[in-house]
Amino acid sequence: MGKIIAVANQKGGVGKTTSSINLAASLAALEYRTLLVDADPQANATSGVGFDPKDIQNSIYECMVDGINAQDIILQTTLLPHLDLMPSHIDLVGAEVEMINLPNREEKMKDALRPLADQYDFIIIDCSPSLGLITVNALTAAHSVIIPVQCEYFALEGLGKLLNTVKIIQSRLNEDLEIEGILLTMYDVRLRLSNQVVEEVKLHFQQLVFDTIIPRNVKLSESPSFGIPVILHDAESKGSLSYLNLAREIVEKNIEAADEPEEATEDT
Ligand code: ADP
Ligand code: MG
Repeated sequence: MGKIIAVANQKGGVGKTTSSINLAASLAALEYRTLLVDADPQANATSGVGFDPKDIQNSIYECMVDGINAQDIILQTTLLPHLDLMPSHIDLVGAEVEMINLPNREEKMKDALRPLADQYDFIIIDCSPSLGLITVNALTAAHSVIIPVQCEYFALEGLGKLLNTVKIIQSRLNEDLEIEGILLTMYDVRLRLSNQVVEEVKLHFQQLVFDTIIPRNVKLSESPSFGIPVILHDAESKGSLSYLNLAREIVEKNIEAADEPEEATEDT
């Protein structure tokens, strides 16, 4: 069964979307069947893999609120054969309000995604910068969460609140939710501050921190404007290689959960 991983942090601009897109693309490049779920009304993950959010009719919102079959809204990217997208559009903003009165309102995304888990090796959910109902849904649907932390001032700000939310979800909605890892992003080797943040986060969170650290890399910030993941923009860039390393680290950690890649050896 595939692993569902939410990428969450209520702070904006820490690298959630960049990490979701490029982790998903790297897993797909390694031939793991991967679904990228855009759970942010800003729809940056949708445009980041080449779709115009304005053209999107049905998003995960319609699955959660109107009960549309998740299977029917999945888009195949033309970018990588193993990468699919469940898109978002601006109406996701209204979902929180409309969902308030639904029974089991925290479990709508789980109901939509869990049936897909057999079809994919990995399902990566890009969350919005909030701890609202959609993010609670994502954390309830997920097996684990990746928490990106930017190597910047106030890196740890808000992390306590997020970890507390994870604890509440574990106790009430999803007792198996694990922390897949804390991911240090936008690391700049030349900055003492960056190095201090790395040390501080490792001191606090120890083995929870991924070995892979994502550097600040211009190719990573450029590729969304082309609607492609960095691996298709510049596969040799530090940004691309670091997300490939992250994908390998996650595959290794989950070696039993993740099935062998499709048609791994003999058939190809
Ligand atoms: P979030 O989804 O958490 O709001 P984003 O992934 O959208 O954060 O990143 C915020 C901004 O920083 C974007 O403009 C993105 O292109 C840029 N960015 C993210 N990670 C990197 C990186 N490692 N190197 C350079 N720019 C980055
Ligand atoms: Mg984002």
